[in-house]
Amino acid sequence: MRFAPSPTGFLHVGSARTALFNWIYARSVGGRMLLRIEDTDEARNQPEAVDLIYDLLTWLGIDWDEEPVFQSERRERHREAVESLLASGAAYLCDADNRPVAGTALRPGLATRFRMPAGRTVSFDDVVRGEVSFASDDLEDFVVWRSGGTATFLLANAVDDVDMGVTDAIRGEDLLSGVPKVILLLEALGVEPPVYAHLPLLVNAARKKLSKRRDDVSLGDYRARGYLPEAMANHLALLGWGPADDVEIRPMAEIVEQFRLADVNRAPAFFDTKKLEHFNGVYIRALSTGEFLRRSAPWLGERASWPPERTRPEVLEALAPVVQEKVRTLGDIGRYVDWLFLADPPEDADSWKKAMGSEQAPALLDDAIATYATADWTPEAAHAAALALAERHGLKLGKAQAPIRVALTGHTVGPPLFESMVLLDRAEVLRRLRNARTRLDLEPAG
Ligand code: GLU
Repeated sequence: MRFAPSPTGFLHVGSARTALFNWIYARSVGGRMLLRIEDTDEARNQPEAVDLIYDLLTWLGIDWDEEPVFQSERRERHREAVESLLASGAAYLCDADNRPVAGTALRPGLATRFRMPAGRTVSFDDVVRGEVSFASDDLEDFVVWRSGGTATFLLANAVDDVDMGVTDAIRGEDLLSGVPKVILLLEALGVEPPVYAHLPLLVNAARKKLSKRRDDVSLGDYRARGYLPEAMANHLALLGWGPADDVEIRPMAEIVEQFRLADVNRAPAFFDTKKLEHFNGVYIRALSTGEFLRRSAPWLGERASWPPERTRPEVLEALAPVVQEKVRTLGDIGRYVDWLFLADPPEDADSWKKAMGSEQAPALLDDAIATYATADWTPEAAHAAALALAERHGLKLGKAQAPIRVALTGHTVGPPLFESMVLLDRAEVLRRLRNARTRLDLEPAG
């Protein structure tokens, strides 16, 4: 089992799914998980990108059993393999115009092509796809060594798998068509290929192949937005596989226990961002409050505009359970609580317009100022006072509280209002209500 990413400074969710399936399989059968960095493309290869791969795999809970192998350090071995193909006549040299050149010694300016045997049917058993066959007559004499003196992907990948003792290679379906070439190549080198399992394509809601341009496909971006690794790994594990009992949200240990590589299906797998968000909400709600706050810390700290004297931990702790019920990502937390810590509620023009645009908004705010000047400072009393206020204006609570919520929090959507408003001092609540009321006179929203 191995994961063989190219370090491009970006880890595609599809690659993460491949890594995870290799890891789950390795752990489920007691095999070894190997990591190979396919860093032979010098233009794209960057050391930080390798660290990002380690970092993101570790974040997902994937570990590996040996020192990672760097493909760039295996150039001599790749050259040796090409030379042996040349020596046996399985490959030939060719010039820039693709004309065969006699000889068996690699030279700058000459590429090497594998000599495709005529009339062969190449078949192999893919664990996912079943028996796959290709006619060698449909395949070209492919390049194994470039004129610039480097091995091609097919050659390096095939030789490295064999040298690393890879028994099972789980990878993306896009690589399936290269397999017959690899099989012939390894046959010419006198070695056995690994067992292949090609995972189904990932598609978006429109059933189109995930694309970097259209879809959110960067694993690192999901992490940055506050997805929990448990939720992400759980969702990725279901892309092409499902447990027999259909219980989808479950600990990785159970997935490892239930996983059978032969149960992976061929149908394109829907990378469902809505489902992922739902999973994430479930995992967030399962955290203890302390753990929720600890994990949210990076997103709170990020809001550097907060005056430190206002970020009172006790307020955050009081609010954490109600926010935890609501957020879908840890990154949402700032939007839910920032109003408590900022000197003034955050500016949100849409919310202002929506809540303050009604004819009743000024009267509602006037009443709220009077009401909250004297109401008891508990969530229950604040709630009861708002109910009475709504009744006085002939409105449902939701409508009546909208201008109050926006005056205090800036947004029409947020944590439960009465639980959270009493976390501010009464004086601060009144100040914000009055500010909103004055602003309504100066710049009516309607
Ligand atoms: N290096 C390839 C990639 O990043 C994967 C190769 C393989 O799994 O065989 O797509």
